[in-house]
Amino acid sequence: MKGLTVLGSTGSIGISTLDVVARHPGRYQVMALTANRDVEGLFAQCLQFNPKIAVMADETAAADLANRLWRAGNHTEVLSGLVGLEEAASMPDSEYVMAAIVGAAGLLPALAAVRAGKRLLLANKEALVVSGRLFMQEAAAHGAVILPIDSEHNAVFQCMPDDFTNGLNACGVKRILLTASGGPFRTTKLDELAHVTPEQACDHPNWEMGKKISVDSATMMNKGLEVIEAHWLFHAEPENIQVVLHPQSVIHSMVEYADGSVLAQLGNPDMRTPIAHALAWPERVESGVASLNLFDVARLDFAEPDMQRFPCLRLAFEAVAAGGTAPAVLNAANEVAVAAFLEGRLGFLGIAELVERVLQKNEVQPTENLEQLLDIDHQARRMAEQMLAQRV
Ligand code: NAD
Ligand code: MG
Repeated sequence: MKGLTVLGSTGSIGISTLDVVARHPGRYQVMALTANRDVEGLFAQCLQFNPKIAVMADETAAADLANRLWRAGNHTEVLSGLVGLEEAASMPDSEYVMAAIVGAAGLLPALAAVRAGKRLLLANKEALVVSGRLFMQEAAAHGAVILPIDSEHNAVFQCMPDDFTNGLNACGVKRILLTASGGPFRTTKLDELAHVTPEQACDHPNWEMGKKISVDSATMMNKGLEVIEAHWLFHAEPENIQVVLHPQSVIHSMVEYADGSVLAQLGNPDMRTPIAHALAWPERVESGVASLNLFDVARLDFAEPDMQRFPCLRLAFEAVAAGGTAPAVLNAANEVAVAAFLEGRLGFLGIAELVERVLQKNEVQPTENLEQLLDIDHQARRMAEQMLAQRV
């Protein structure tokens, strides 16, 4: 039995993870579950999986959960705050940690897992965007194994040679081809984009996901964050990462080798495939995902992304090329902009505009340490909020 912590267990990835785990009762034992404020969701998961620890990021919610568990006769210990999240991420009972908190809030708990030398199933791409260099260095120093959950990176991982730690060149790889569905607005008339609503932006054609990543998919900032994620995970220079629009989301990404071979990983768009892959690796287990019916799929289309339509993708490429603290600033401004869009405080096109303005106002610094990155993250958020406030 492998002990497992699921950080962000009440979210889209968290729920899919527990779905796969429940299919293999003798294989994984849930040791810790965590959520932000969803007491109801975590309470139900505690009754089903009986973890040792449950963590609510919010303290009032933690007291509420503890009370309800006690009344239900459940003995899960309830912790709260960052201390609780870090405890769940590094506890000796868990060999495996799923990092599925959304946003930069997931960075410190994921880093705690890395520093404890865990097998880290990494869904939280923002952690690598904010602190990629440091994160990868810490993983190497502590012997942590990082298995990507993001479907594209999981696909790339499956298509890469066994050892890719010395860069693409050294292992005969020419390019990484990251596929992208193009989201719900791939073909929307450009002059209609100004008026799209959060409901429309969250209505992804192929994937069911949390709200933040759904909006990121609609702006294609998600693909931009994924370019940065691939840069760190696979030691790939941005110029060797090509984004390929592929509206069917059947090919999850590809790797092109020096000899001209292109390897692809295909499957139905269901996150339980990469989750099951990373849980069982190097073995393979049932995930609950239906067989891919190629006769139903019938055709696969590809196109180059349009940087005019998707300025967030351009901004992400510029940020990774600028290096240093630029990706952390990009991410922070984007988190503020997406939250404002979801709350109806900012129009859809305003997301890219705000991110660009914050990037322009922040001089790029070389990365030094975690404190500096967290500081930059806070400053960029404050600046984005001020700019938002000045607009009205
Ligand atoms: P979600 O919004 O559905 O769930 C987020 C989880 O994190 C919830 O359990 C929530 O309670 C918790 N959480 C939120 N804010 C928190 C905070 N401040 N402190 C502690 N916990 C907090 O998000 P999701 O769609 O499951 O995505 C999770 C991560 O996985 C994101 O980084 C996303 O980019 C990545 N990802 C998701 C998908 C997908 O299909 N959903 C695919 C690839 C990558
Ligand atoms: Mg993805």
